[in-house]
Amino acid sequence: MSEINEILATTTAQISDLPALNESLKNESGLDPGTEFDEPNIGRNSQHGTMALILLGALLGFQLVILYWKQRHYRSFQLVTLVGLWLIPMYIFGVQAHFWRFMTIWVLYSIVNSCILYLASRKPLDHKTPRLVYKWFSIVYKVSYAVGITGYSIIMFTFFGIIQLFYTGPEVIELGVLLLCYGLYFGVLSRDFVEICTDRMASTLGYYNKDGFPRKHLRANICAICGVAANGTNEAGEQQNVFQLACRHVFHNDCIRGWCLIGKKDICPYCKEKVDMKEFKTNPWDTQQQLYLSLLDGVRYLIVWQPVIFAFVELAYHLIGLE
Ligand SMILES: [Zn+2]
Ligand SMILES: [Zn+2]
Repeated sequence: MSEINEILATTTAQISDLPALNESLKNESGLDPGTEFDEPNIGRNSQHGTMALILLGALLGFQLVILYWKQRHYRSFQLVTLVGLWLIPMYIFGVQAHFWRFMTIWVLYSIVNSCILYLASRKPLDHKTPRLVYKWFSIVYKVSYAVGITGYSIIMFTFFGIIQLFYTGPEVIELGVLLLCYGLYFGVLSRDFVEICTDRMASTLGYYNKDGFPRKHLRANICAICGVAANGTNEAGEQQNVFQLACRHVFHNDCIRGWCLIGKKDICPYCKEKVDMKEFKTNPWDTQQQLYLSLLDGVRYLIVWQPVIFAFVELAYHLIGLE
């Protein structure tokens, strides 16, 4: 028994003397007590500094590359952006995160858009196609606008505590964010799709050539967007609105509004004279739409180029050996 007691006593003494033991061990290893925690901290700080510098450099560098690319080779830039915009969210939210609702909407949307793109690429072009294309994208755009604004309002009303007066649940703000994301994403995607459709249709008709002179001479009162006479009545004899630009070229009202407001063009389809976009702003709704459209242009950058920049930065960190 006394033996056990002795062992217990020495063990207790050793345990109570642990800090001293630690100290002696440190001294043996040649480490100055106290530097143990500071040194890695200094290393980590400088590491964070390098990481921030790389991130900043990448953000600036990419900004310049994108700007240059956009100005010099707009077509390839436009195409790569559209493909990225179309596929990156599907990969992140569909393939990786399995958001079934998003995948379903995305697939349906892609099917209809492929049909529209097919129609817009037909040669010869059916004269009804331009208005059909603009009609479709104007519907998609209005729906996306309504959904986005609803989401935004929900977020704002939750933020200021107004929603909580009627309903208390944690999922309200999530619903708002979700709706805003859906609205912005499909809004910006449609905007790029319609721009490509617009270019294709117009160059097929021949009154418009992106990089040079038109292949066909425009006769008086022919609408250069759909190729049909724009003289006040359609083929069924119904009255239709026409619109004359400052360059005196005449178009169907629906055609030129689709071309300028939905197809993102601010030039006359035939003579390329600059169009004063204010001509189309006839009501506050149009002004709001213009604001929303500029917001969409910012979203495109966030969706497509932000993931690319971060992937590049992560690769750089990895190569340099930073964690
Ligand atoms: Zn027309
Ligand atoms: Zn003109």
